[in-house]
Amino acid sequence: MTDRKAQLAENLARVEERIASACAAAGRAREEVTLIVVTKTYPASDVRILHELGVRHVAENRDQDAAPKAAECADLSLTWHFVGQLQTNKVRSVTSYADVVQSVDRIRLVTALSAAAVREGRELGCLIQVALDAESGERGDRGGVAPDGIEELAAAVDSAPGLRLGGLMTVAPLAGPYAGRQRAAFDRLMEFSSRLRGNHPAANMVSAGMSADLEDAVAAGATHVRVGTAVLGVRPGLG
Ligand SMILES: *Cc1c(COP(=O)(O)O)cnc(C)c1O
Repeated sequence: MTDRKAQLAENLARVEERIASACAAAGRAREEVTLIVVTKTYPASDVRILHELGVRHVAENRDQDAAPKAAECADLSLTWHFVGQLQTNKVRSVTSYADVVQSVDRIRLVTALSAAAVREGRELGCLIQVALDAESGERGDRGGVAPDGIEELAAAVDSAPGLRLGGLMTVAPLAGPYAGRQRAAFDRLMEFSSRLRGNHPAANMVSAGMSADLEDAVAAGATHVRVGTAVLGVRPGLG
């Protein structure tokens, strides 16, 4: 085993243990939570190693980095999640490799994703990104729709050809009333998820929790956690 593979295996084992403990503490089955490894800023060779170690879900946040990486890993059976703020001019590229776009936060994006998915002849999973700290009608600093905009977007995704409404995603806010209160933030997201499932029963994915707060997300009821640093290491610079 290479040094890198041994290191990633050890990190993965530690994250797996954290998820398992959090599930046990919450009385949830381990299978209820899917680990998505966020590979942004790390090379395709790491994605390949992660696949060898059993990882099947990876996430990226910038098309420029993700597109070549996904192409290099096209022979691997992986589910690619796009979790970054997405400009409409990148939609066609993202739709060519992503299986799920977790950052759907405006109608224009729904329209563009639908057109691209139809053109590619594929079905794209979509999560509505919720900015828990955004005021009505505004978007979050890191993307996301204000909570009162969820249903309009959900209905748009639901009726858009080529798109499948998967559920909700959030990033715990750094500012505002939820700053430093991850558990409260994720509980709030779960309330929005319950409401959403009232109208869209199949939209049962709840993507929340990162390296620092995955336990809070699992405790609240998240179905997907997105973990970067704890598996791959601290990213150089911003990412
Ligand atoms: C980078 C990123 C993550 C992973 O964050 P870590 O703290 O490295 O685990 C999760 N979600 C999104 C949207 C990200 O951009």
